[in-house]
Amino acid sequence: MKILFVTSEAHPLVKTGGLGDVAGALPDALAAEGLDVRMMIPGYPAALERAERLTDGPDLGDPLGFGRTRLISARMPGGVPLWLVDCPILFDRPGGPYNDASRADWPDNHRRFATLSWAAAYLGKVGDGKAWLPAVVHANDWQTGLAPVYLKQWRGPGPGSLITIHNILFQGRFPRAILEEVGLGPDLFDIDGVEFHGAVSFLKGGLRFADRINTVSPTYAREIQTPEMGAGLDGLLRHRKAALSGILNGADYAIWDPARNPNLIRNYDAETVAEGKAACKRDLQMRMDLAPRPEAPLFGVVSRISDQKGLDLVLAVADRLVEAGGQLVVLGSGEAAEEAEFRRLAEARQGSVAVQIGYDEPLAHRIQAAADALLVPSRFEPCGLTQLYAMRFGTLPVARRTGGLADTVIDAREPNGTGFLFDTASAVGLWTALERVFALHADATAWQAVRQRAMRQDFGWTRAARAYRDLYRKTIETAN
Ligand code: ADP
Repeated sequence: MKILFVTSEAHPLVKTGGLGDVAGALPDALAAEGLDVRMMIPGYPAALERAERLTDGPDLGDPLGFGRTRLISARMPGGVPLWLVDCPILFDRPGGPYNDASRADWPDNHRRFATLSWAAAYLGKVGDGKAWLPAVVHANDWQTGLAPVYLKQWRGPGPGSLITIHNILFQGRFPRAILEEVGLGPDLFDIDGVEFHGAVSFLKGGLRFADRINTVSPTYAREIQTPEMGAGLDGLLRHRKAALSGILNGADYAIWDPARNPNLIRNYDAETVAEGKAACKRDLQMRMDLAPRPEAPLFGVVSRISDQKGLDLVLAVADRLVEAGGQLVVLGSGEAAEEAEFRRLAEARQGSVAVQIGYDEPLAHRIQAAADALLVPSRFEPCGLTQLYAMRFGTLPVARRTGGLADTVIDAREPNGTGFLFDTASAVGLWTALERVFALHADATAWQAVRQRAMRQDFGWTRAARAYRDLYRKTIETAN
């Protein structure tokens, strides 16, 4: 089965969050299941630099009038074949994949991601000129939402299309005026097309025209059909319910394994977790200027800072957490006002709270290893990966019962518990869970039992890859 997996980010080329992790791991797991999967990603400078074995691929001319575009054929560092969409005027610039150094969205994002979507649709439709023609184009999030739209606009036979929603809040909305610019006709500016509240929505286009839709956990697949959590697209999703499903993401244990992780001062496994984590905690306390207190329950946060992640709740309980004898270490970046609040908190609680604002991959691993518990108080969470990594690292997640968190964490009150869940997105809700964390942590035997179970959970990608294989089959059936 030939699959074109198109994405705007993929670890280790470019990553801003969970999509990058998924795109860095799922194609590998699909290949291991025998699928002929190839990826496509914009030719950002970092991607051109980190991809391997670059050779010339098909020349696409100037598809939408934004500039000469060619495909460069390459390999992911893990070996999966890859096309880089090389259009320097759109992609060859410093900064992030979606925004510039001051975090403003690139003003030409509609052009950049229409071009990515167009290239994927084109390859899906006509192949690479060397007899590779995919049966399914697998789009991910709004950045590739137009791929199913182009495919449905073009006449004649084509591949099936699947779109995965990694986060429904990001929709790629642009003014009406860009519609013709991205090569779509005015007839599509309609409730049955790409129109969404007077704007053009790339995600809506994908959800409207893809043969199949899925999201990254079964609970989130249900939640996005409700007005509370559907971000305005719940009506369309209820309408397309028969084509919608949820597949839980996996964790890439080649990277997120405390026994092999190169970022840790001491590697450990379930047998050696107590000594291993103690060493990692000492190391982190020293590096982050936390008091060297081995007995203090250390709470970690590794997260984007946005309303979704509920870190305002962490700010609200931080004083109590410290007064109860805990320590807090936060790695995150995002909304400036909340970043500043975390900085102020660290200043006020020196020795007990350490905050690093920014993106730091090695530190993310060190926190996972050093902390006793990881705080994930998300208001919504499509799947969430940090709680999966935490469990493998023997760090108990303290998570809100929503989306993928509800699907992966079992509360310690259950006989097979692996973490702590709370229901109400409020300081009281989180604090009530933290009281239970402190109580369990004080009982070393009970803590060790939950930690052992957490470490033994298997959220590897094989299960997910098999579910995607079945979904690709259904996508092909739907398309024909
Ligand atoms: P989301 O995709 O909503 O950001 P996920 O939990 O699915 O959340 O994925 C987050 C990924 O990004 C994890 O790999 C996590 O370790 C990483 N991450 C988040 N913030 C940071 C940061 N500031 N520095 C390093 N890694 C981060």
